Amino acid sequence: MTSLPTAEELRRLAEEAARRCGVDLDAVAGDHPVTSPVNGQHLLSVRRQTAADVAAAVERAGAAFRQWRTVPAPVRGGLVRRLGELLREHKADLATLVSIEVGKITSEAAGEVQEMIDICEFAVGLSRQLYGRTIASERPGHRLTENWHPLGVVGVISAFNFPVAVWSWNTALALVCGDPVVWKPSELAPLSALASAALLDRAIAETGAPEGLSQVLIGGADVGEALVDSPGIALLSATGSTRMGRAVGPRVADRFGRSLLELGGNNAAIVTPSADLDLTTRGVVFSAAGTAGQRCTTMRRVIVHEDVADALVERVAAAYRNLPIGSPLEGGTLVGPLIHDAAYKGMQDALQAARQQGGEVVVGGGRRLAEEAPDAWYAEPALVRMPGQTDIVRQETFAPVLYVLTYRTLEEAVALNNDVPQGLSSTIFTSDQAEAERFLAADGSDCGIANVNIGTSGAEIGGAFGGEKATGGGRESGSDAWKGYMRRATNTINFSGELPLAQGVEFPI
Ligand code: NAD
Repeated sequence: MTSLPTAEELRRLAEEAARRCGVDLDAVAGDHPVTSPVNGQHLLSVRRQTAADVAAAVERAGAAFRQWRTVPAPVRGGLVRRLGELLREHKADLATLVSIEVGKITSEAAGEVQEMIDICEFAVGLSRQLYGRTIASERPGHRLTENWHPLGVVGVISAFNFPVAVWSWNTALALVCGDPVVWKPSELAPLSALASAALLDRAIAETGAPEGLSQVLIGGADVGEALVDSPGIALLSATGSTRMGRAVGPRVADRFGRSLLELGGNNAAIVTPSADLDLTTRGVVFSAAGTAGQRCTTMRRVIVHEDVADALVERVAAAYRNLPIGSPLEGGTLVGPLIHDAAYKGMQDALQAARQQGGEVVVGGGRRLAEEAPDAWYAEPALVRMPGQTDIVRQETFAPVLYVLTYRTLEEAVALNNDVPQGLSSTIFTSDQAEAERFLAADGSDCGIANVNIGTSGAEIGGAFGGEKATGGGRESGSDAWKGYMRRATNTINFSGELPLAQGVEFPI
């Protein structure tokens, strides 16, 4: 590994990429410091918004909604098509910003921007397929239909680890559904957000769409809270920790707003005796150590049959010992930094708790590059054998710690998979079709995502994304997740000339 980039190098790269995306760096300069996890040093400072700015942004978005909701959906799709083109053109720029602000390796950062392009393409197709339905009426001369209408302003709160893709999943769908978006990105990645929003602003200007359709609010939890409480936000889509969701959900419900919660995960793989261990090892290592363990779908538990546990642990440990850890901007690196010191401390605390609860750290857990970059937090992904599903295993630690548990019967393995508060992603590695089907059945995995012979992370945009229980229950991205961004109207049309009442009710006057 060569050395980490200097603060000047990172600043130059970030400023050039942001400018190419259309960010006016002078206009956004302020006193909110941005730190790069790549070297732990100050990158630049941007302006923060206040709660008063939130009200003004929601009002502007509300005005845009009143125009946008009557624009035909396929025409709305034209705006998203242009956004997709601009994202394609600036894929490398946005990926650079994502790498610099949150430490993703180049390939994963480019993958995140590819997801943005993919969801735009999906949404353009969707703009001609916002289908309602005709329902058989019980009355003669009546037609019963269901139609979907734009809902209103969508508020998006996003987490640091997918600093731009989550916005695009929501925004591409919201825009074709007729809804403006007010975005409160992670305070840790404001430049990536400003660059994405600048591309959308350009698409809006070029296609003649209403100006207020897209708003960005840079700030912390206080700005998020103002958005949550804003009566002008019809749907609040919040991605982040379960702690955040627990604060946000009841507040939105209290004002009868709609919320879409995408919260923490504690994702497991079941590895059966018939599993192909080479394929399993690759799937486990990408899901557990990739993104330095900082995906909501990161694999945090392996539940392996006792007959193959030693063989699997040996293979995963061997792969872990050889993982290239270092600058995410350098080709060949597979594991970049943790986001900040608190994440590293959380990892060390979890490892200590695991030891106290009977665990044995097989490999990893140490720190790298501490001398070169004392304020950057590079950690060796840790593999920990546990005697059972103890308290620490049932928590989400947002760092690369993979717990290994063993099982004897598949029923026991599925019970362990489900016996955690979260319900996001899960997988089974097996060559036995019956085992795979049992895992996917109604009494199998209770997660929103259940896979066979692939890892827990790396979902495609075509499927609905989200999870159950403490993961929040929301679904976004593909399939029919668009319905969450629209309101449903049931229409009964009487062309009979009579007035028959439903259920045969008589009401003579
Ligand atoms: P976080 O909860 O600290 O912050 C997420 C966002 O919420 C930030 O923009 C933050 O400013 C805002 N926020 C925090 N408290 C708030 C409050 N009380 N009111 C309004 N807004 C508030 O999460 P993070 O550290 O940025 O991200 C990591 C977490 O996100 C992990 O738990 C991870 O599993 C989860 N995550 C989930 C998904 C998913 O789709 N399920 C995707 C990505 C990340």
